[in-house]
Amino acid sequence: MTIQDKVIAITGASSGIGEATARHLAARGAAVVLGARRTDRLDRLVEEIAAAGGRAAAVRVDVTAPGDLRALVDRALERFGRLDVLVGNAGISRVGPVADLDVEGWSAMVDVNVKGVLHGIAAALPVFRRQGTGHLVTVVSTSGLKIVPAQAVYAGTKNAVRTLLESLRQESTDGVLRTTSISPGYVRTELIDSAVDDPGLRERMQQDMAELGLDPDAVARAIAFAIDQPEDVEIGDLTIRPTRQG
Ligand code: NDP
Repeated sequence: MTIQDKVIAITGASSGIGEATARHLAARGAAVVLGARRTDRLDRLVEEIAAAGGRAAAVRVDVTAPGDLRALVDRALERFGRLDVLVGNAGISRVGPVADLDVEGWSAMVDVNVKGVLHGIAAALPVFRRQGTGHLVTVVSTSGLKIVPAQAVYAGTKNAVRTLLESLRQESTDGVLRTTSISPGYVRTELIDSAVDDPGLRERMQQDMAELGLDPDAVARAIAFAIDQPEDVEIGDLTIRPTRQG
């Protein structure tokens, strides 16, 4: 089965990496099912993909609500008859030292970045098992690989997901499930727009990102590479950074 035969659900498809991934996979013939909270953006993307001859559907998904992930999976089954891949991409970031005690931000990151992925697994795994095949792709981060100050909780959430997927992989050696963790470095998206409250710091981070960050399509291509492997090949971990990133 190549990309053009697959049905692929993507969380966080309303902007950045998720949006670029939806566009890229749809252009290669996959049927894509898009989830996020900003449905106006999802609807526009579905129209754009359909106008280009592609196949897409969308559903409002807040990944903190387990039922919304079930609705995403159900949409794939109703509309396209199966689900081959779930891309758990939705994520948020809050940057700052632990001593800032951004308790709300910590909780939000755990809810979206960790529990959001768990809710996706809970919704998709029974379908993958029933079908006898399925692929779980998560977007983690190089922040979890190179530990730096001011990203403790964000990096921790990404490493929690990395751990989760590796454990799931070892539990699933019957050939039904493939798991992939994609670790991007800096990517030019909206992620940092809500990462800090200080407008000056935010602007500096946005400038750095604009200068150094990858185009989200680079990550979309990496995700497509993992998805496009034959059934007996599993890309476990894939890191993708701007060449000039330290
Ligand atoms: P964006 O902010 O552009 O996209 C984040 C996406 O997540 C949006 O579509 C947003 O949709 C969605 N999202 C956020 N909260 C929720 C929620 N509660 N329920 C459903 N969807 C949600 O950032 P990126 O594209 O950069 O982020 C995508 C992933 O890539 C994240 O997991 C991020 O951590 C990771 N990443 C990004 C890097 C970067 O440099 N940009 C580097 C490494 C990893 P909506 O608001 O409409 O719900």
